[in-house]
Amino acid sequence: MEKGTISINAQNIMPVIKKWLYSDKDIFLRELVSNGCDAIAKYKLIALKGDAPAEEDYRVDVIVDKEAGTLQIVDNGIGMTGEEVEKYICQVAFSGAEEFLKQYKPEEGENGGIIGHFGLGFYSAFMVSSKVVIDSLSWQAGAQAVRWTSEDGMTYDMEPSDRAERGTCITLYLNEDEKEFLDKYTVRGVLEKYCAFMPVPVYLSEVKKPEPPKEEEGEAKEDKPEEKPAEPEQINETTPLWLKRPSDCTDEEYREFYRKVFHDYEEPLFWIHLNAEYPFNLKGILYFPKIRNEFTASEGRVKLFSNQVFVADNIKEIIPEFLLLLKGAIDCPDLPLNVSRSFLQNDGYVKKLSAYITRKVADRLTGEFNTKREDYQKYWDDIHPFVKYGCIRDEKFYDRVKDAILFKTTTGEYLTVKEYGDRNFKDDKKTVFYASDPQRQAQMIQLYRDQDTDVVVLDTLIDNNFISFMEYSGKDGLTFRRVDASMEGLTEQGDSDEDTRKALEEKFRKALNQPELEVKLEKFKSSEMPAMITVEEQSRRFTEMAKQWGNGMGLPEKRALVLNAAHPLIEYLKTADAESDMTEMVCSQVLDLAEMSRQMLAPERMVAFLTRSNKLLTIFCTDK
Ligand code: ADP
Ligand code: MG
Repeated sequence: MEKGTISINAQNIMPVIKKWLYSDKDIFLRELVSNGCDAIAKYKLIALKGDAPAEEDYRVDVIVDKEAGTLQIVDNGIGMTGEEVEKYICQVAFSGAEEFLKQYKPEEGENGGIIGHFGLGFYSAFMVSSKVVIDSLSWQAGAQAVRWTSEDGMTYDMEPSDRAERGTCITLYLNEDEKEFLDKYTVRGVLEKYCAFMPVPVYLSEVKKPEPPKEEEGEAKEDKPEEKPAEPEQINETTPLWLKRPSDCTDEEYREFYRKVFHDYEEPLFWIHLNAEYPFNLKGILYFPKIRNEFTASEGRVKLFSNQVFVADNIKEIIPEFLLLLKGAIDCPDLPLNVSRSFLQNDGYVKKLSAYITRKVADRLTGEFNTKREDYQKYWDDIHPFVKYGCIRDEKFYDRVKDAILFKTTTGEYLTVKEYGDRNFKDDKKTVFYASDPQRQAQMIQLYRDQDTDVVVLDTLIDNNFISFMEYSGKDGLTFRRVDASMEGLTEQGDSDEDTRKALEEKFRKALNQPELEVKLEKFKSSEMPAMITVEEQSRRFTEMAKQWGNGMGLPEKRALVLNAAHPLIEYLKTADAESDMTEMVCSQVLDLAEMSRQMLAPERMVAFLTRSNKLLTIFCTDK
């Protein structure tokens, strides 16, 4: 038996590997299975050249043996000779790890970062094993099978092996506290996570202890049944849909893939099949999921693969954050994956890749809009938070999709900014009128509708931010006004009678006991209403923001009571006795009614309003 010691550095490196990888220790399976796949890929190349016979049934087997406490990973790839084991397992892999550590040591507090996901190859086996055995038979004619055994990854034994088939069998003797990997369902879960799309069939099986022979009426069975693994089940799909040419994929295949991978039985809205060799080797499918509500919008998941090997979910450095609202799979074989997070953040290639993905998504959106507008409009309610979020996060994205941004009107039409402008912008004012709550704001909306002005619905959380973004960065010079922000465009032009206004203001202030109340007097164009309340846009946003950030302070909203000079009630109030109960009641009623067309009254105010309404009705009908 040959004995050897792996280089002195091993003592320094093993503990680090174990520690770093600890949080993701299940990746040892990914590493070993992908090594098996690599070995098969190498053998295929040799067979292709005619140097060895082709194999019918290339496969990697993962075999759980609870009884023996082992997990085996077996492949029928090229195998290794004794020298190769020494070279690849004992030296190269190791010095590779060492170099790796020198180069990409994670920064303080980085907690391993991405490294935890990417792993360090063969040596990750020692994260979970108290002993690792390699039995390997090289493809080369006359090769002698070898067995390599190591208990700590630092020292090893080599001896001849009795392995008779070409390929490699790795046997892990699992640590006492890693026995979960002896559970077939756990192992299947890990394989499904990492190996679901590996290019070689991966099978899982379990060595079952034979049932103890039943003693039938004293007749003990003589022949014990053979121990044999149960029928292996294939875990993976060797040709994932993203590798197919987009023109060869059917819609049903895309949907099927989505259901299978994301277990989402809600149909995706549409998808983007990325299929590029240049400038990036990048393949993948991104789906726009149907979003049930704003709060589930963050449930997206983009799986990153490298050559069909799962790397990690939602790597923000590669997939721009706002695209993480999507679901999908991206395969980037050329990514420098064995690196730390900070490396990815600063890498030019990664940045360009990320920008490229963003561009593709934007192009797909505008493509949908240009060629299938009707469908696009149907999706809009689902995708708009995503599009808006993307615009806010990435100005380049905004520049690309801005012509495909839609405003939904209160009458259910979908207009682009340009279409809205063509229909509604007057003079050089570019005001977009919007409602944040179409039901409550129905009265105000109606006033605009009466003037043939479209009101758009901007009623989701993201809209407030989107409005600010459009005003400040949108370059279109748009201004957004909520329908209750002013009476702009809703009143007749003309000189207002300042004395009358002042007198009415006094009357209201006194009757309502609100000395600060601002009263305006205008002739409404269409309304039957005696008055409206307006709340100046910026001051309202400011207050809303203050509320959102949890401090109720901030400046008070700039409110005004706008009276309709053409209304008989206002006419009546002009001459009414400022001291009378009736004036007080009418003023209160006018104010409450105006308030109600914007929002619900507070409970006490509501009670007072109802009491007063009944009183006024009684007086009207009975004079009492
Ligand atoms: P990497 O796969 O990144 O090269 P690993 O540590 O996973 O690093 O493996 C080191 C080397 O050991 C491989 O490059 C390969 O030459 C050899 N090797 C590992 N597993 C096998 C296997 N199952 N069959 C043949 N060779 C293997
Ligand atoms: Mg490897």
